[in-house]
Amino acid sequence: MNDNKFLLHICCAPCSPHPIRELKKQFELTLYFFNPNIHPKKEYLARLVEAEKLAFGENMPLIAGEYRPREWFQNARQWKDEPERGKRCEFCIGHRLFETARMAAERGIARFGTALTVSRLKSAIMLNSLGEKAQAEFRGKGIVFYEADWKKKDGFNISAKLSDEMGFVRQDFCGCVYSRKNSRKKGQSEEAGQTA
Ligand code: SF4
Repeated sequence: MNDNKFLLHICCAPCSPHPIRELKKQFELTLYFFNPNIHPKKEYLARLVEAEKLAFGENMPLIAGEYRPREWFQNARQWKDEPERGKRCEFCIGHRLFETARMAAERGIARFGTALTVSRLKSAIMLNSLGEKAQAEFRGKGIVFYEADWKKKDGFNISAKLSDEMGFVRQDFCGCVYSRKNSRKKGQSEEAGQTA
């Protein structure tokens, strides 16, 4: 196994430039787009196309995981009313990190991690503990989770600035149908507040 290889899970192009730029100073990166949570499929495809453009621009390979939204829904819907950072997100992020670890093991990639902690709405404590759990699932394969909190040291703004320079579109919801509904509700109440 090549210790310098790193599989980085990404959820979208706008969040990812800062983690990519930092990690590529040390590692040989491959991007992994595995996001069955994204709804609808049109949105999934739009995010995938931008992720491919990002990989091309950064001169690195991208693996597109299988899109299996039905399986995701069957599990996640029991937590449909959970707020962001709750049990639904714990399942969703854990599922994606498990798959990233599985793919790293399958491809002989020594390290894996995620760009998700760049978001201010994501708990690095939750994400890093889920990454360690995924690493433990593949104990014996020699793969290591890379702990990080990419939003630190102005990471979110750095990613946003790079993303704007590259012309990517920042979405106003995390990805799943539930986060989309919440974002719309918030938008409506903000509009109502403005007109009141
Ligand atoms: S809000 Fe984001 S992290 Fe949470 S379940 Fe939905 S897509 Fe997954």
